Amino acid sequence: MESQPLYLGCHLSNAKGYEAAGRVALSIGANTFQFFTRNPRGGGVKAIDPEDADALRSLCRENRFGTLVAHAPYTLNPCSSNAKVRDFAYRCLGEDLERMKYFPDQVYNLHPGSHVGQGIPMGIQRTAELLNEMMTADQPATVLLETMSGGGSEIGGTFEEIAELLARISIHDKIGVCLDTCHLYAAGYDVKNDLDGVLRAFDRIVGLVYLRALHLNDSLFDIGSHKDRHARIGEGYIGLSALRSIAHHEAFRGLPMILETPNEPPEHGEEIRLLR
Ligand code: FE
Ligand code: FE
Ligand code: ZN
Repeated sequence: MESQPLYLGCHLSNAKGYEAAGRVALSIGANTFQFFTRNPRGGGVKAIDPEDADALRSLCRENRFGTLVAHAPYTLNPCSSNAKVRDFAYRCLGEDLERMKYFPDQVYNLHPGSHVGQGIPMGIQRTAELLNEMMTADQPATVLLETMSGGGSEIGGTFEEIAELLARISIHDKIGVCLDTCHLYAAGYDVKNDLDGVLRAFDRIVGLVYLRALHLNDSLFDIGSHKDRHARIGEGYIGLSALRSIAHHEAFRGLPMILETPNEPPEHGEEIRLLR
């Protein structure tokens, strides 16, 4: 069987439109990319121009792009104790899942949330409630839960918490997981020296079948710091050679691998070349 290609890209702005973002991806040697569904630190949402979305779809088809990753705004906290914040999470997730019809069969990534004092079990319960309320069997996109660094009151910093969340979701064929190398390392998973061990643990606790995307970031802090601070590839504690092995690991073949490093697209292109 022919092996699947490496799908590498980075987070890109869609401020100038979706096709424009796709062209930037092409220009830097990417064959996937990630975009925010709306202002990441606010709630505002701009209507999607169906022609623009169509143009991006053709561009991706013609250039054999892998799956694209839509990222929910950081302000979406599915398990907040504040009713207003939770209302926003319900509305935002509902609208975003509806908007994913313009990007059929792609993935929608979200952070499992911060329980802000309610405790992890309550956080997991609230996030699962939101997902069960808003997800539908015929929704166009798969929802991905991103593994977090476990800082503050974040949930999703351990595979056990992700497994616990997944176990409570009723629509299993529309849910998956996005691993983030910086978050994993900060959470104490040694992706630098023991990637196979980390993947075995993930498979045992969560299940590799749920693995749908990877965020490839170096980490500004050492293992177990619980600090979510991304570094450029090769400029952090994980390092280029480990990140390159991760990018080439068979577990991620065919899945979108997205850089979220503090760089502009031309430098992202350089990072993609280093990783390939
Ligand atoms: Fe994220
Ligand atoms: Fe990430
Ligand atoms: Zn992060």
